Amino acid sequence: RQGEHLLDNDDTITLEPLGNMKPIKDLAVDFTPFWDKINKVKPYLEPKDEPPAKERHQSPEEFLLIDDSSTCIMCGACYSDCNTLEVDDDFLGPAALAKAQRFVGDSRDSKTLQRVQDLSEPGGIWDCTHCGECVERCPKPARPFDRIKEIMTVALEKGVHNNNGARHALSFTNSVKRSGNLNENRIPVESMGFFNIPGLLSLIPIGLRMLLKGKVPPIIHHSIEEVDDVKRIFKELDQ
Ligand code: SF4
Ligand code: SF4
Repeated sequence: RQGEHLLDNDDTITLEPLGNMKPIKDLAVDFTPFWDKINKVKPYLEPKDEPPAKERHQSPEEFLLIDDSSTCIMCGACYSDCNTLEVDDDFLGPAALAKAQRFVGDSRDSKTLQRVQDLSEPGGIWDCTHCGECVERCPKPARPFDRIKEIMTVALEKGVHNNNGARHALSFTNSVKRSGNLNENRIPVESMGFFNIPGLLSLIPIGLRMLLKGKVPPIIHHSIEEVDDVKRIFKELDQ
């Protein structure tokens, strides 16, 4: 009865090897890339001080910040169904990023800034497509996409903005804050960075294709009528 939702139309359950990993035999797959990526995020504490005589203490509130990511059982279900991994082998993937949050959020760790800088590199947090598939698949409260959003928040709070992903998130937010909707001409330029000349030049072919297809947004961007309500919401959130 618990597995009823797994039944196909003809009342069968299909068992397949995990995805995004090379099958070895029957249902067995090669977990090597999975473990390599876990190791890449340095899944161990790099503490602030010398070891104390006993254990390092955390308050219950501090532990709550890493409670969910600590529940990961390394099953690989999220890795199997991650949409970014299907097209990009270099993406760290949901399990490694959930593990990374376990240490980014740890009050006893001394390398938070270095960690979020590393995780903001290509293949890291900003390459996630926000599809949420990993959350659907995760059998534990680890819920990788929720952990990825937490790392993004820490990266932005720590001023790690010098990358396309962070610039895009900030540009997106500022556009909504200013006008209540997205300025689709401005966001790609701000995401790329005003001084990133090769990046800006790479936008030209896309712009030309959009022009030919009649998809270029209006040059003059207009605010929505309720923009004052949007500004009020942002103001309340800022307080
Ligand atoms: S939300 Fe991100 S990490 Fe999770 S499955 Fe989608 S692309 Fe992968
Ligand atoms: S699905 Fe959940 S428990 Fe399994 S590896 Fe991914 S984060 Fe860990």
